[in-house]
Amino acid sequence: MTPRMWAVVAFGVLAVALAVTVVVLVPWHRPPAPRADQLAALRTLPADRVAEGRAFHSALRPAGYGSLLVGLVIALVLGLTPLGARLIEAVGRPFGGNWVAQAIVGGIVVVLVADLLTLPFAAWRHTILVRYELSTQGWGGWLVDLLKGFAVSAVIGVVALLGFYTITHFAPRWWWAWGAAGAATLVVLMSFVLPVLVEPVFNRFTPMADGPLRTELIQLARTDGVPVRDVLVADASRRTRQVNAYVSGLGPTRRIVVYDTLLTEATPPEVVSVVAHELGHAKDRDVFTGTLIGALGAALAVVALFLLGGWSSLLRVAGVTSIAEPRAFALLLAVAAVAGVVSSPAQGLVSRHTEARADAHALALTQDPTTFEAMQARLSSVNLGDPDPPRWEYLYAASHPSTVERMAAARAYARGER
Ligand SMILES: [Zn+2]
Repeated sequence: MTPRMWAVVAFGVLAVALAVTVVVLVPWHRPPAPRADQLAALRTLPADRVAEGRAFHSALRPAGYGSLLVGLVIALVLGLTPLGARLIEAVGRPFGGNWVAQAIVGGIVVVLVADLLTLPFAAWRHTILVRYELSTQGWGGWLVDLLKGFAVSAVIGVVALLGFYTITHFAPRWWWAWGAAGAATLVVLMSFVLPVLVEPVFNRFTPMADGPLRTELIQLARTDGVPVRDVLVADASRRTRQVNAYVSGLGPTRRIVVYDTLLTEATPPEVVSVVAHELGHAKDRDVFTGTLIGALGAALAVVALFLLGGWSSLLRVAGVTSIAEPRAFALLLAVAAVAGVVSSPAQGLVSRHTEARADAHALALTQDPTTFEAMQARLSSVNLGDPDPPRWEYLYAASHPSTVERMAAARAYARGER
């Protein structure tokens, strides 16, 4: 069998493994609560706040979709014309012009071009967040965060670029196999490393202060049978008024993080309700499932790229001779950009079902649907959410059930529907 035949087999095996993982580990069986409950919940929310949330999201849309569109166009123009390959060649030349220079300098410049051209949209978004008094950051803090983000991406990017093109250089026939294994490993590594090394770049984390709330949260985790080493508080208030909590990391790096804004905006029982939701993610191993899906998806993407590399007219429009050469990196980004836009609804669907299960877990653990519903209402109000967003936007990108769906789930729970 040729390497190409083996790649076809690997593609099939990985695709089946990914499909099985998604079918088996994603909780598909929970239908949303009745629409009548959702509409009843919507009517209990303060109308002026709902209107402001909707106005805020309308204001954000041009910047958000503009950025998406411009980013996609740039990726396609660089990747599906010889422009990207020429740019990579040109910026690699002063650094020796060899494959290492093209891989690292060329790769970073191509990404940077796309970032810089979408920068006005990011700035526009910031002005809207400031206007609606959600951001507490001035331009200085915003710029510092931006530069930190570039620095983190550059470090990860250099590792990924150098790793990938070293493999394609030294294993021209079998790079897809090594590359798939490397990409999957990188995803797993990031799951462990990001919370420990990268999150502290943007926020300070301190263990939650001793007191009744901390005691109750630790007790809640113990009742739930979830090993949680600590509950950390992030100093999110230095950039936002929005509230949030999340669980990240795997095994020894697993932690529950609550924004300091949550502690000031929500009542202690509501914080308990939020943390109960996060414990649901830990208990149901959602970080593990997410990492597994990500790793399989990354491996599948590398094999798919190899197979796509056999499409000679695609290589011709990009002005490259092989998809595995550093000059073809812009083509890779174009393919990734299209894949990202196309797969967004599927990612949202998986995420929403996972979030709905964590909500059900919170309700079962706290047995307090009233507080859960109040907490959802508060989250939406403080974060200026649209509690019942347009259907198309929800289906395209929503990572969580809508606020009214979550409130309705609490009402269904209160009625005894489990
Ligand atoms: Zn969640």
